[in-house]
Amino acid sequence: MAKLLATAQGDVHVTPEGSRAIEWYYDTDTCEFVADQQQIMSAFHLPHPINGIDDLLKHSRTSQIEEIKQKIVDSETSEEDGFLSCCLMPNPGVLVLVDIRFERLNDHEIRGILIPQMCISGLEDIANILDTVFDLPNVGISVADQNLCIIGCNSAFQYQMGYLRDELIGEKTSFFRSEQHGEEFYEQLWKEIDSKGYWNGSLMSRTKNGSNQVHYHSIYRINFISGQTLYFDFCTDISTSLLWKKINAGENRGQFSAFLPPRKEFEEQLVNLAQSSRSKNISVVITFRPAFSSQSRLEQQLCFSDYIMRSRHVSLSGQLSRDVFAICLQTPQCQWLSPLRLIQMVLRGFLADLKNEVGSSVYSTIVEGQTGVAVLGYDAQTAGHAIAHAAQAMVSSSADDRSYFNFYSSELHSELVKRFYLEDFLHKVIENEAVDVYFQPIVEVSTGNVVKFEALARFSNETETFDTQEMIAIIEDLELISALDDVVCKSALSQLPDLQGIYGAEVGLTINRSLNTKLNALQVLQSSFEIILESGVNPSNITIELTETAYFEQDQEHSVALEQIRKLGIDVAIDDFGTGYSSFAYLKEDQFDLVKIDRKFIKDIVVDSTSYNIVKMITELAHKLNVKVVAEGVESEQELNVLTSIGVDYMQGFLFSPAVPLSAFKAKISYETLFDNVVQEQVSESPLLTFCHSNIRRLKQNAPLSLAMEFVNLQPQVSLLVMDSNRCIGLVTKERLEQYLSAEMEANTCTKMKLHVWEHPLSKIMDTEFASVSVDSPVSTIKENINVGCPFPWVLCDSQNEFRGLLTQEDVLSYLASV
Ligand code: C2E
Ligand code: CA
Repeated sequence: MAKLLATAQGDVHVTPEGSRAIEWYYDTDTCEFVADQQQIMSAFHLPHPINGIDDLLKHSRTSQIEEIKQKIVDSETSEEDGFLSCCLMPNPGVLVLVDIRFERLNDHEIRGILIPQMCISGLEDIANILDTVFDLPNVGISVADQNLCIIGCNSAFQYQMGYLRDELIGEKTSFFRSEQHGEEFYEQLWKEIDSKGYWNGSLMSRTKNGSNQVHYHSIYRINFISGQTLYFDFCTDISTSLLWKKINAGENRGQFSAFLPPRKEFEEQLVNLAQSSRSKNISVVITFRPAFSSQSRLEQQLCFSDYIMRSRHVSLSGQLSRDVFAICLQTPQCQWLSPLRLIQMVLRGFLADLKNEVGSSVYSTIVEGQTGVAVLGYDAQTAGHAIAHAAQAMVSSSADDRSYFNFYSSELHSELVKRFYLEDFLHKVIENEAVDVYFQPIVEVSTGNVVKFEALARFSNETETFDTQEMIAIIEDLELISALDDVVCKSALSQLPDLQGIYGAEVGLTINRSLNTKLNALQVLQSSFEIILESGVNPSNITIELTETAYFEQDQEHSVALEQIRKLGIDVAIDDFGTGYSSFAYLKEDQFDLVKIDRKFIKDIVVDSTSYNIVKMITELAHKLNVKVVAEGVESEQELNVLTSIGVDYMQGFLFSPAVPLSAFKAKISYETLFDNVVQEQVSESPLLTFCHSNIRRLKQNAPLSLAMEFVNLQPQVSLLVMDSNRCIGLVTKERLEQYLSAEMEANTCTKMKLHVWEHPLSKIMDTEFASVSVDSPVSTIKENINVGCPFPWVLCDSQNEFRGLLTQEDVLSYLASV
């Protein structure tokens, strides 16, 4: 570590808090150290430049040097950033409090910052600080020597205990023992102070007037160079926040002590709370009977009561009997999340915080104890019922029930228990890299051969296989999706050689990568990039499917990331195209190699349907831009026929095979014969249809103008059809669309409103007055229509008034020219 601490030049900047942070950098290979010497000299009142940060650290307290060195050594082996806070004495009579932070950039480069916090020069200033600290009005301070005899205290301490200083000096610290805590408890407390150097927690102490008061104590042991040891006790009176009542007169240990409002008061407060927030919040009432240990019942009760009193999660707390506590948690209603999910989240938050705050021994009293939950407005209509139901669920929970919470409603109970179970289960399988990976073939239309396999995660326990989509959603909630994608990617890559053994060396792998994570696309792609490189697999056999592309931003950084990965030969696909927010703009940017059209457009696709037109349009556009098209979820030969006629490049779906594990692959399968029977679907014949305009874009009347714009841009000369099932109900021209948009954009000044214009439905601008011509009319009617001035375009309809085709002026002119 000494190597880390050398000298040099660097930047200085002011941190947001206003303190001056001095940046430093160190290379352990070259011993280059960069920092601003001037800043260091001035911040630490040093007459000379320093030879490194160890030069600074040698000014710390002798007793602290070893501890600091250990911290630095620890940080070298840990992935986490290092942090130290210490008081340096660079000059006699000068003290500087400093924070030192550092991070490892790689195995030989470290960078960090020094933040001098405050500088105290001279004994007078130190005395000033001590005076001020001792004068704090609400923190009692007492000092004891190594024999635990009190040698001093401040005024707040006198006030809290009711004694005058003179009465306390020379007394043992045990003077205040309330007899509520056992002998063993105090022994343990002092043992902890001797081993760790401090103790924090709540204690009940007897004050001068004979009553017991609850204080929160932080007791520190300080060893002086002279060999003297002093104990500093800082305590705050929490009896005002924690209602401390003796239900029965008398002070004997073991009698019922209430720390929180009793049932009646709790219920009254719950009535008010529920009334004031009924429409906004969901109120969850929980009762606890913790499994307090018989030796430290009081201390654990105190600790738990203090926590539920203070917790930011808890809206109300109460004590129903000696060992039964009640709380109310509230969660705001939210239209995006189900009440079940909200309840689960608020319980999860409460438990996580509880664990952090009360320490493992008190936490386990809750987990091992009994709990009951009722939800106001769901399984209880009044506050009284909610408390009673929660208590009933609590007492009926069996000791061997492993779920933390027992719900009064059996439906809620099973749903939430399942969710808790799944979260733990998913955490474990991802952490242990024990996710199963199945492979689904992707077939090339031109050959009928399997060209790659999509790796899909599978989750199952001994008894059940879980729905993948549902698991992925939970994993995304848990912010574990990137970890999952890494695990699946590694596992799939390791199985690829076996698949290639069966399907040939060219067969590839396609891997899902979700962007629904806090990581940005750059980090997500970087991660796949590294795993693929490490695996030794040829990158040109790999495709990455970006799912949740709504999170993909079209900025410079993301373009660079995509470019980098594609340069390696890895293909990038947009998954589930056509759902959510996936934008046509992605196709235009030349950033993707493949587009996977979502199953919802493929299902039951027939010629001339809306899905047909959409798939056709996407395919045509993609091909123009050199992007290949994969149709997902192909289940029938009918779908295969239509998709082949449209010209998609690849197909994937149950028609070929579902996703299966590697063990299911025995021999190479080709699907060539399925494509042998492809029959081109024919649009029905009629004289006028033979030369009418084909491939007309069509949309429903509630389709947004944004989509209409994409369509008319593809075919600007032809009107867009507005359809109501198979009937044409309106036409929209590019001019009409542009005219409307520019007028609306001008009228709306605010950006949000402007964006909203794109969502206006087509029905707002469609032209409902158009010429309708019978599809069965003989060709001779063309001339008649022209003669009577029938306006173009002509909408061809059958006897049911269903749309069959569109004739533009150009279609008719080129027909007339050809006869
Ligand atoms: P996806 O990427 O769209 O994957 C295709 C899904 O469609 C798979 O569902 C597959 O089993 C299913 N499928 C394939 N052919 C057919 C078919 O002909 N008919 C029907 N009805 N379904 C078909 P699965 O495996 O349940 O996966 C669901 C989604 O979960 C995937 O949709 C993908 O978004 C996500 N997913 C699965 N594994 C992973 C993973 O490792 N990482 C990430 N980020 N997402 C994954
Ligand atoms: Ca996929």
